[in-house]
Amino acid sequence: MTNTSRTPVPAPPPGAGTDLTGRTALVTGGGSGIGRACALALARSGAAVHVVDRDAETAKAVAEATGGEAHVVDLADPGAIDLLPLGIDVLVNNAGLQHVAPITEFPAERFELIQRVMVTAPFLLMRRTLPHMYAGGWGRVVNVSSVHGLRASAYKSAYVAAKHALEGLSKVAAIEGAPFGVTSNCVNPGYVRTPLVEGQIRDQATAHGISEGDVLADVLLARSPVKRLLEPEEVAAAVLWLCGPHSGYLTGASLPLDGGWTAG
Ligand code: NAD
Repeated sequence: MTNTSRTPVPAPPPGAGTDLTGRTALVTGGGSGIGRACALALARSGAAVHVVDRDAETAKAVAEATGGEAHVVDLADPGAIDLLPLGIDVLVNNAGLQHVAPITEFPAERFELIQRVMVTAPFLLMRRTLPHMYAGGWGRVVNVSSVHGLRASAYKSAYVAAKHALEGLSKVAAIEGAPFGVTSNCVNPGYVRTPLVEGQIRDQATAHGISEGDVLADVLLARSPVKRLLEPEEVAAAVLWLCGPHSGYLTGASLPLDGGWTAG
């Protein structure tokens, strides 16, 4: 009798890179920062890329740079998500926004918007794109979560709640997708050098009357043993690896790219 638990799985040759020729990827928030870096990396690996962003100018610029297609869409609008393409093999749920305020002063409509863009939109996109991945027997869902999907910080209730919800959604997708060759994982960056964070550094330096270097060291990187910002290209490299030939057994996981923050 065959012992199925010992059936050998053909291993890809060590060192084989990620070749996504013939695959189609969709990256939300692909016009800027991490999403832009992911779109460029996926295109360099051969994927056809759909760049989804509410900002028309940046979405079109990245689509041009990747030879892909821009979709100018507000992900808070479920009707607009219904018009996005169905034939997706790699879904990168990346679009996000932040609002910083104590719970007692947090605007309820802002809280709800953040859940819609960062939880409901990834769910709707999974619901839309998983049938094609299941039918093809291969797919990759990569959710750009955050260290705030694993840890909390004061004044970020909507963002921390949304990222924790995304972690749960990603795990359910992993369990449901496993029989079909579809993995779902999160990547969990600490602070990344993007326009969003560079703006925060400038604003906090002005607000507290301290240098940008001090904001970086004493505020942003206080909990990170590695004392530098993460680069968007480093996040994109992890996303690409999750789409590569050596990652089929890794699913339902959360990959901390946090300079050791969550090790403490
Ligand atoms: P960014 O602001 O540079 O890019 C976000 C993109 O999402 C923008 O192009 C924006 O137009 C788009 N977007 C926002 N709301 C949208 C909507 N309703 N519909 C369509 N597009 C929308 O930000 P980033 O720093 O690259 O962040 C990308 C992701 O990475 C986010 O989910 C964020 O939470 C996560 N993240 C960022 C950091 C960081 O330090 N920058 C750290 C951890 C996690």
